[in-house]
Amino acid sequence: MLAGSHSFVTARVLVIAAACGLALVGCGPAAPRLAPPVEPYVVVLGTAQDGGLPHLGCERECCRRAWREPGYRRLAASLLIADPSSGRRWLVDATPDIREQLERAREHPPTRRSEGPRPPLFDGVFLSHAHIGHYTGLVHVGREAYGADRLPVFASASLRRYLEHNGPWSLLVSAGHIQLVTLAEGQPVSLAPELELTPVSVPHRDEYSDTFGFIVRGPSRALLYVPDIDKWDRWERRLEDVLEEVDLALVDGTFFADGEVPGRAMSEIPHPFIEETLARLTALAPVERGKIVFTHLNHSNPAADAEGAAARRINAAGCRVAREGEILPL
Ligand SMILES: [Zn+2]
Ligand SMILES: [Zn+2]
Ligand SMILES: [Zn+2]
Repeated sequence: MLAGSHSFVTARVLVIAAACGLALVGCGPAAPRLAPPVEPYVVVLGTAQDGGLPHLGCERECCRRAWREPGYRRLAASLLIADPSSGRRWLVDATPDIREQLERAREHPPTRRSEGPRPPLFDGVFLSHAHIGHYTGLVHVGREAYGADRLPVFASASLRRYLEHNGPWSLLVSAGHIQLVTLAEGQPVSLAPELELTPVSVPHRDEYSDTFGFIVRGPSRALLYVPDIDKWDRWERRLEDVLEEVDLALVDGTFFADGEVPGRAMSEIPHPFIEETLARLTALAPVERGKIVFTHLNHSNPAADAEGAAARRINAAGCRVAREGEILPL
């Protein structure tokens, strides 16, 4: 036991150390198992745009290489929020890769108790919006697959209406596999005594629902999560102001630059190009720029190659690209 180590810094180190320890378990008989983490944390379960990497039908090198070399693959963007003190955990967005992501979440938090033949998969699922990468993973909690029992699913009022009135989602509701809870802009949801999640409205193509980003606040740190937004200047908040309120910002890094998707008008699929975000933030202090972590990368995005020139440009600007499986202490 590490009794008496109660400072945030120490606790944060423990989280990281324990996470590393978990990663080591299974690597061999000598792998040390460190003390369990004590503070809540986020696990990055996926960092790709909705279609994943490799992407359906892509014959270009971005995806051919990912089929050849699994290290280049990325799952659709998703987070796990884990709270070791209560043993609870929450999923942020249910992606088409949910099966693999649940497996990645297996040990988080290490204090989790799973009893009975079909224990709850999560203590709740927060949905950002109704594009395929963010909610269609719910197909796996119905009768044909896991058969969840009243899994709490948090969604905006419009997304809730969409799920309640359109199959196959409506059957999940009527058969009691999911239990919908309405999220409201700016209204925090308490997850644990020092852990809360606040939805923030963001402008994004709203064919079926509006879109939320999320701010997750733990005892030591706050994290902004905005995987999809049309453009920063269409947001009613200033990115710079929101950055001041948080310690880390996982933001829309779908495309690196204009012209990246041949044969498609990029104005129909608006996102802030990473180049635009970097240019916008150049005047900020390095400590503010250092909060920016790009996620939700399209398969075409050259920054998906962690060793490539695009990733180096991002790093030179003081920002970085999210890594699959990384642990972010709260
Ligand atoms: Zn998306
Ligand atoms: Zn591709
Ligand atoms: Zn979207």
